[in-house]
Amino acid sequence: MQKSNEKGKSEGENTESRLQKSDDKKAPLAGFADMLAAAEMATHTSSRPEIQVEPPTAKAPDALKGAEVRSAGDAASLSTGEFEKQRQRFWKENGVELTKTGDGRYEFRMHGYKETLCTSDATPQGLEEAHKRIEQIRQAKIAELGKVYGAKFSVDGETAGKQAVYDKKKNDWFYGAEDVTCRAPKLHELLGIEAALKVSQPSAHGVKFYLMTKQLYKNFTEMADYSSVPHGGSDKRAKPGEPAIFLNANLTMNYPSTEAAAKNWMNSDRRGTSLEDTISHELVHHSQKVMNWETSEKGGARTFGMEMSSLMGWVTGNPPERRTNLWFLTDKDGNTWKHEHMGGNEWVRMKVNGQPLDEHGNPCPYAKVQRITNGDMVEIARVRPATTYNDTPREEFAEGMTRFRDGHRAELWQNNRVLYGILKDADQREINKAHPPGKDKKPSHIRAADGTIVANTAAAQAEIKKLEI
Ligand SMILES: [Zn+2]
Repeated sequence: MQKSNEKGKSEGENTESRLQKSDDKKAPLAGFADMLAAAEMATHTSSRPEIQVEPPTAKAPDALKGAEVRSAGDAASLSTGEFEKQRQRFWKENGVELTKTGDGRYEFRMHGYKETLCTSDATPQGLEEAHKRIEQIRQAKIAELGKVYGAKFSVDGETAGKQAVYDKKKNDWFYGAEDVTCRAPKLHELLGIEAALKVSQPSAHGVKFYLMTKQLYKNFTEMADYSSVPHGGSDKRAKPGEPAIFLNANLTMNYPSTEAAAKNWMNSDRRGTSLEDTISHELVHHSQKVMNWETSEKGGARTFGMEMSSLMGWVTGNPPERRTNLWFLTDKDGNTWKHEHMGGNEWVRMKVNGQPLDEHGNPCPYAKVQRITNGDMVEIARVRPATTYNDTPREEFAEGMTRFRDGHRAELWQNNRVLYGILKDADQREINKAHPPGKDKKPSHIRAADGTIVANTAAAQAEIKKLEI
């Protein structure tokens, strides 16, 4: 077990420590430092808006192939109470919505999708056959994602090493006695993962997905975490150190599966909160690892992370700090600000040598330091970030790149022009690693408007130009 978070130092140099790499998507709900200072490990809940997890009734956009399930049985139709029970069952098992059709049959679809998964007779036997059919679709999706992206998934009862427990006295985290327990993915989750993998190429291959029923940190709720396969897991095919994404399986049903489904989720627009969005963010952390965010090649002075941080308006003192989570963000007037701690909502005005400044820019004791919110920081930042989750350069980059890749590219171009250019170049460098440019030095492949990787043709460029207007 590695030393973990002291004030704001959660992105350490040791990339093996999952405790140091708390790359949670909008999730540590209270600041890490706050928690440590208070030494109180109360249960935190997600900062994402909680929504009803009841089966919805609304209908919306597109996906899986329909199929008709015909039952040979002639059993009686279901009572209202039994129908409601079945509706809950299909929803809880896979996020599948069960409705009655006009002609007295049952219809099954993913919420937010137009197409039906299947239909069945309105009988108990029809329901069982639909249940089998949906299970086939789920298994086929697991196999497909394995084949196309080398993705691996936890199975029911699998464990992912030991859960970390906070020790009040030592003010640190240690592996406890309990296993991090996991389950197999539901269809709802697989669709979110698939959508994220699709827009996270070329690097997102061979990632293991853990659907955790017991979390990495005891009494600390995260939505998702990018790290690596831990030692001591029960899946011997996944080797320790391989890339892994840990998802809080107790919360996933609260979120739309994909950005497409999120457009009309429970009758409201929930884009930017889908599983696709969360997982895309975590996969950007994988991209950062592939691009050597904090490990420069051959001992060079500047890492990819340092280069990106500088471009995004972050600064460091002298000598330069390699851990970019300790950098400062500059505003339009050239003042520098430090984010207080992971997951918190506060920036303090500070010189890069750590000297606190008051609202007039005068040196002052820390108690008098000028404080602003995450939202204020976005407004005054020299390079405008894409969202308010910018605790560190790594997170600012991940938030922006997620939007660049998963369907918000035009918005990013409109609202964050400087960041857009930085991210587009960085993304192209990652693409070039997998698909080397031709003799003319022009990229052979680019990211298309829909987030996928395509050949660099005039037609593909023209599509992108439509976004960049
Ligand atoms: Zn993150």
